[in-house]
Amino acid sequence: MTDLHRLSIRELSEGLKTAQFSSRELTEHYLKRIAHIDPKVKSYVTVTAEQALAEADAADAALKSGNAHALAGIPLAHKDIFCTQGIKTTAGSKMLDNFISPYDATVVVKAKAAGLVTLGKVNMDEFAMGSTSENSYVGATSNPWALDHVPGGSSGGSAAAVAADLAPIATGTDTGGSIRQPASFCGLTGLKPTYGRVSRFGMIAYASSLDQGGPMARSAEDCAYLMNVIAGHDAKDSTSINKEVDDYVANLNGTAVKGLRIGIPKQYFNVAGLDADVKARVEESLKKLEEMGATLVEVDLNMTEAYVPTYYLIAPAEASSNLSRFDGVRYGYRCENPVDLMDLYKRSRSEGFGAEVQRRILIGTYALSAGYYDAYYVKAQKVRRLIQQDFLKAFENVDVIAAPSAPTTAYKIGANLSPTEMYLGDIYTLAVNLAGLPAINAPVGFDKDSLPVGLQLIGNYWSESQLLSIVHQYQQNTDWHTKRAAIAEENA
Ligand code: GLN
Repeated sequence: MTDLHRLSIRELSEGLKTAQFSSRELTEHYLKRIAHIDPKVKSYVTVTAEQALAEADAADAALKSGNAHALAGIPLAHKDIFCTQGIKTTAGSKMLDNFISPYDATVVVKAKAAGLVTLGKVNMDEFAMGSTSENSYVGATSNPWALDHVPGGSSGGSAAAVAADLAPIATGTDTGGSIRQPASFCGLTGLKPTYGRVSRFGMIAYASSLDQGGPMARSAEDCAYLMNVIAGHDAKDSTSINKEVDDYVANLNGTAVKGLRIGIPKQYFNVAGLDADVKARVEESLKKLEEMGATLVEVDLNMTEAYVPTYYLIAPAEASSNLSRFDGVRYGYRCENPVDLMDLYKRSRSEGFGAEVQRRILIGTYALSAGYYDAYYVKAQKVRRLIQQDFLKAFENVDVIAAPSAPTTAYKIGANLSPTEMYLGDIYTLAVNLAGLPAINAPVGFDKDSLPVGLQLIGNYWSESQLLSIVHQYQQNTDWHTKRAAIAEENA
């Protein structure tokens, strides 16, 4: 079969169960595509072919015995921020270029237990800091829709791999938009779950109170399948919440949109820098949802102006603390011939970390230092609470809140925006993490340059099933999620 990469997760699961093809055939098919097509996209940092084939054979045996998990034998790619035992885990940093993890992240353990086959590790911005994936020390990944454009970030490798059909699904992480924005830039569906829904154990920390792992795929249905595997309480993560997990696939229904109240924040659609095509496509998608039975209700999110400054204080503060462990002594990169201990720390950290990571460590260390702590960090935490309250108030009148996922479509590689210009591009995604809420991106069309545009729907706590169902129903009535980039149409 030459078109196995066009099948949905449900179709793959059925095909494997009824022995229309084996996991080995499917895995070989993807490995062949990666070998032929990924040199142009550069989404993978490490391809684990040998391990993948062994996992595929094990899945085939389980499938034969008749008691395999629904996802057994289906390949996936992991963002290189999830620790994988015996396999290099770099988080996109030279600092960890020699790091072979001694253990698996919980998300990886769960994926293996379900019989998913790991094709490899995919590229990302260094320590998940960025919006283009250009901050990776191995270099940029291309957007499958236009190879001279970025796939977004920080989970840009995950998005590019799925959009080029080099993996049917991928894991990502979202600290301030890193699942939703690359999903938007690459025409995919991506879900950022409620904080605490997916274990952070073994997920290299950027900003611990904001980081959350989640699925990236072509459709809401595909995301639901992966959520069923990765969601759940984990005793190894103290911020993981012990709450029953939904069956996200069984809960998908065709009636989520009828009677749905969608909040339209006044402040969101007049943001300077909101691209006209993005605005038009998002408005068209909302019109479609209205036709399907939803009502649009204006809501007030008064704290909108505070999102970017609040996030860019709290995230760097937590990063400066989390990244202090990379000192060239315990593990990670160590400079050549240090003259003394101070020299070893200084040079290991200045040679091992890239420019954006160093910028954030500086900002964060400053914000946390005695004398500035109250003025910056404590103040930011107070504003964070106000941002959360703003959302909770809005949710008294509406079920979900709509926004673009990003004010623009994908940037050109090397566009070299200033750090503050780049940070402003995160305006629509940051508040969700500050409040710990779930949110989803769905593809809703293209701009004048044929680059994908995404709609973001923000839900109340634990509304993952609802968000997935809304997008699922939208996708049953539209075909944006079925569009494929030319490079994905190439056969290996
Ligand atoms: N672009 C944001 C940042 O650079 C978000 C990154 C993320 O979600 N990991 O911090």
